[in-house]
Amino acid sequence: MPRYGKITKEIYGELLAVTGPGGVTADEEALDNYAWDQAGRVWGHMPEAVVKPADTEQVSKIMKIASRERIPVTPRGAGSGLNGGAVPRAGGIVLSLERMNRILEIDPVNRVAVVEPGVVTNDLCRAAAERGFLYAGYPMSTETSFIGGNFATNAGGGKVIRYGSTRRHILGAEVVLPSGEVLELGGRYRKDTWGYSLLSLLVGSEGTLAVATKLIVNLEPKPGRTVNLLACYPTVEQLVESVAKVIGSGRRIISCEFMDRKLVKYTTEYLGCTLPEQERSEAYLLIQLEGDTDEQLEDGYETVGKICLAGGAFEVFVAESRTDSAAMWNVRQNGLEGMRAKDPYACSSGDLMVPLSAVPEMLRRIKKIAEEWNVEIGIIAHIGDGNIHPIPLKPDGMSPEEWARYAEDFFAALIREAIALGGVGSGEHGVGHVKQKILLENKTPAELEVLRGVKKAFDPLGIMNPGKMFSPLEED
Ligand SMILES: Cc1cc2nc3c(=O)[nH]c(=O)nc-3n(C[C@H](O)[C@H](O)[C@H](O)COP(=O)(O)OP(=O)(O)OC[C@H]3O[C@@H](n4cnc5c(N)ncnc54)[C@H](O)[C@@H]3O)c2cc1C
Repeated sequence: MPRYGKITKEIYGELLAVTGPGGVTADEEALDNYAWDQAGRVWGHMPEAVVKPADTEQVSKIMKIASRERIPVTPRGAGSGLNGGAVPRAGGIVLSLERMNRILEIDPVNRVAVVEPGVVTNDLCRAAAERGFLYAGYPMSTETSFIGGNFATNAGGGKVIRYGSTRRHILGAEVVLPSGEVLELGGRYRKDTWGYSLLSLLVGSEGTLAVATKLIVNLEPKPGRTVNLLACYPTVEQLVESVAKVIGSGRRIISCEFMDRKLVKYTTEYLGCTLPEQERSEAYLLIQLEGDTDEQLEDGYETVGKICLAGGAFEVFVAESRTDSAAMWNVRQNGLEGMRAKDPYACSSGDLMVPLSAVPEMLRRIKKIAEEWNVEIGIIAHIGDGNIHPIPLKPDGMSPEEWARYAEDFFAALIREAIALGGVGSGEHGVGHVKQKILLENKTPAELEVLRGVKKAFDPLGIMNPGKMFSPLEED
């Protein structure tokens, strides 16, 4: 007997009765759009139906049907994830939160926003800015990801060094359990010692425990003014040595981002632009500083600029206009697209996280392993956090399917090194199923037992996003 139930005609009708017309589809072409995410098509899998609830009550009813029939449910935000997290590996229902896309409230007294999970992150940022606040938890994919996806992956981004990852900005959530039960967790407050924090546990749980249907997020006061610096280095080693000094300078560093030569080459070719000193630069450091006054800003960029020059940078450019700043950030933000323009199979799942002190050694090991595996890579990194994204290109002559397996093993080799250096296999993108094997290899039996107990407490039937995190499929 198969472990999971199938969506029969009757069940399809029942789901449609819950959502109303247009809320369920089993059309093959439509399903294909929900079969994969930004990890790439080779990691995709077709669902049986896509269901698009409009509110929490509908989510609850859908989960009750799924539980009764043991149908797998994979929650989906915008599908911008980089590890196959939103891929319905066991088929069943893709639960797309795209119709739940309202910003319900900006509450200035409690400094929070209340949002549905399908809000595009950038829309939240804009709404907060219009009221004089900052939503600081946004990732680089802010224009494409949903806040519900950010919650479920504990997304990071370019400003973590100053503001922290998404978890720090989630104050409350309404979630629906696989049973259909609705939980209200946290609220419009900032301190909570009222028992175990289920809220913290659910942030980053990648849709394997519950569906987020409403979020209460922290808003920061409007930031001071910012300035951007681009430091060009002749060697990666010199750049990396500067980073610790920049971070330790005591200045208000908001971002500290790394791009290597190859990534800049392919990305500037893709964008049709150039960065300064591109011919002789092996790597770039892009730094954003904050200050309340002209004097503070000036002190910031002069101090940091001197550190970079003393560390071997042959030039440090201070952006003098918004256009200059946008040009610098454009290359950084389009790094993945640049690599994909070179090779559509460029794999973006690399998300190594190491202590800042281990970054130089991690970069050396990445280079060595890439050479041993005969893989061409470009690298971007939130280097100030110790979070490194190597992006490998598919070697010539390898089929996409072979590449999927090869890339998984390549990343596993890198992750083992990150762990040996005191880090972990993912800093912000999560596990999905691309990194599942190496995650399981890395956890001790005692830890796995506790983690699987948690999964069972939320999802006793195992219908939530099967084949992810700590619950491999039988064929894995
Ligand atoms: C160009 C590019 C740049 C990126 N930059 C960054 C970056 O700087 N930092 C970063 O952290 N990530 C980055 N990402 C990865 C990705 O954008 C983030 O992981 C993002 O948080 C995913 O959001 P999403 O809405 O697309 O979620 P999806 O990809 O749809 O889903 C991701 C996971 O969340 C689960 N999920 C989604 N919604 C819900 C919900 N409502 N309830 C329960 N579970 C849910 C899914 O089941 C899945 O496991 C980048 C991706 C791209 C393509």
